[in-house]
Amino acid sequence: MVSIIGAGPVGNYLAAKLAKKGLKVDVYEEHKKIGAPVACTGILTPYIRDLIKIDETYVVNKINETYVYSPDGNQVKIKLKKNYIVDRTLFDSSLAKIAKSEGAKYHLGKRLTSLKLGNEHKLKFSNEIIKDATVIGADGPNTFVGRSAGLFENRKFVAGHQARVKLKEKIDSNVVEFFVDEGNYIGWLVPETDKIARVGVASHKNVGKYFKDLMKRREGKILGWQSGAIPVYDPKTNIETKGVYLIGDAATQVKATTYGGIIPGMKAADILTDVLSENKTAGSYQNGVKKTIGKNLLSHLMIRKLMNRFSKEDYNKLIQLCEKKSVKDLIYKYDREYASKLLFKLLINQPKFASFGKCLFRKEII
Ligand SMILES: Cc1cc2nc3c(=O)[nH]c(=O)nc-3n(C[C@H](O)[C@H](O)[C@H](O)COP(=O)(O)OP(=O)(O)OC[C@H]3O[C@@H](n4cnc5c(N)ncnc54)[C@H](O)[C@@H]3O)c2cc1C
Repeated sequence: MVSIIGAGPVGNYLAAKLAKKGLKVDVYEEHKKIGAPVACTGILTPYIRDLIKIDETYVVNKINETYVYSPDGNQVKIKLKKNYIVDRTLFDSSLAKIAKSEGAKYHLGKRLTSLKLGNEHKLKFSNEIIKDATVIGADGPNTFVGRSAGLFENRKFVAGHQARVKLKEKIDSNVVEFFVDEGNYIGWLVPETDKIARVGVASHKNVGKYFKDLMKRREGKILGWQSGAIPVYDPKTNIETKGVYLIGDAATQVKATTYGGIIPGMKAADILTDVLSENKTAGSYQNGVKKTIGKNLLSHLMIRKLMNRFSKEDYNKLIQLCEKKSVKDLIYKYDREYASKLLFKLLINQPKFASFGKCLFRKEII
């Protein structure tokens, strides 16, 4: 028997995988509706197709180009392989539907309010108490499971501040725009159509001000908010103890460069499925993650730590370098999902990228 707390994309994907292997799976979700409220932009790189078959019902748009803006206002246009923009409510629900069809049982409107560890862990959902030897915290960045099991430790977060916006001016609906600036600021405009976009910023600080500044560049009417906390990947985070496992945002499994967490969380779910279905020894999940997706997440973290030290001038230079055709071709070919592979190829192709290494001797601007 396995109890998964949280019916987000990672909890649902994991539930489907475990149920398919014949395990008895129960998923507990505090909200009455799966996938709501939304706190996500919903961009998925093409690598999502390695994990699931795309169902067009939740695809809102597809993009194949990005414009990246430097602090001095210059812009580089880069072709991308097809990325998907999804409706997170429909996406999460579709994954839950697959899990149910494999035999997972869902309990909606059930918030975990107490978790006491023992040989059989005791879980309390307002007026109901259950016991289970295996508990999985797929309960997002503030993970109650992680806190209760002593796995929360010293985590860091950035704030993601995003709104759905009806724009004053038409945009190209095939293009996602990114805005970079000093330190760890990143802004984005992700089109749903040529008039509606998801506009947001992520940073350690001042997100309200940065968001207002971005809205001055892309004016429009706010239709609704989709903000939330984004955990910064920490390779030292313990993600399992005595039959309690953390996954997805609860385990900080988020790419620190772009703050995408759906694909890494789902990949971790594949590892946890093997561990639980094959009754592997304690520590196998933590080690399995470290040796595989952990390496990629660490590369993203190193690049983020370097970029956190970038001045406006460094970003201006970086965007200029990306103007070269050979650089654009590499970004197209190797994609941002696998950061170390892309960085390695860029360094070989354009040794000037190595000059940014000097920034490591500065303090982070966060
Ligand atoms: C503004 C913003 C933009 C983002 N954009 C992208 C993007 O474009 N692409 C991408 O890949 N990632 C993006 N992310 C990150 C992405 O949203 C997360 O990585 C992803 O949602 C993690 O999935 P999860 O299933 O681990 O957790 P969540 O999606 O957070 O799901 C956790 C679930 O657990 C439930 N829960 C929590 N506590 C309890 C409890 N005590 N009892 C019962 N249920 C509970 C919650 O209600 C929720 O349904 C973005 C994040 C933000 C904030």
